[in-house]
Amino acid sequence: MNNKTSILLLAVAAVASSLSAAIPTKSPVNYHEPIAIERQWRHYDPGKIDFRIESPETEGGKIYKAIISDPDKYITDNARRVLQTLYFSPADSIPDIHVIDYVVRDFDGISYKSGGGNNVRIDYSTDWIEKSFADGDTIKLDYETRGVIYHELTHAFQLSPEGCGSYDGKSPYWSFIEGTADAVRVACGCFQQDFASKDRPRGGNWMSGYRTTGYFLYWLSLNKDKDFIRKFNRTALEVVPWSWDGAMYHILGKKKGNSVAELWDEYQTAIGDKK
Ligand SMILES: [Zn+2]
Repeated sequence: MNNKTSILLLAVAAVASSLSAAIPTKSPVNYHEPIAIERQWRHYDPGKIDFRIESPETEGGKIYKAIISDPDKYITDNARRVLQTLYFSPADSIPDIHVIDYVVRDFDGISYKSGGGNNVRIDYSTDWIEKSFADGDTIKLDYETRGVIYHELTHAFQLSPEGCGSYDGKSPYWSFIEGTADAVRVACGCFQQDFASKDRPRGGNWMSGYRTTGYFLYWLSLNKDKDFIRKFNRTALEVVPWSWDGAMYHILGKKKGNSVAELWDEYQTAIGDKK
């Protein structure tokens, strides 16, 4: 441990002792408080959390350990926030996850989900933790860590559309999977919800995936149907084979203005990207 680390960890320990599962005690303007968990999800069991830090010697590993005092509760509560964003109620058709392996370790990248069936695994990079904590700001680290968890846990719990390609970086299937994950992250407040924010990429379209698609889905939830994200997730079961137009018509009605190209155009104009 170098000097910088020990000073950081002292500061962290002081703050962490007052935190419960890293809930920020005060929130700067730009960092959204964790959204409230609805009553119906408060006791929902998203699966057993198998948490471990596999690179405890790294600065990121030490920072995580100091800040997230109760990882099981932290991950479980954030899973409930994801679930209430994706589903209407615990009675919905929700993938039955028995175990969530959550591994903090040293690797190139930020975070990714693997595994399948009833067991998912999420890896989170110690290098990224260290970078996110560069200013010694625990609230920023929590905001970033929660944002990454929202994205990856969406992959654990989202429905999977059929007949629309594979996870290839360009198919409708891929844009649904990655677009929904970032829509949930925006809706839960861990990307800025202001469309003028630099968090929102410019250009692209609904097939671009990630934030480009995510902000579009979030806009639809604000402007077309407050349950849009839940209904969009459910189109994976109700629109087979799945397509963007099919999903939009299913949710918003088959009429002029509701093709995905028309809605994208309306969105781009509304947020001022298209003059
Ligand atoms: Zn993803």
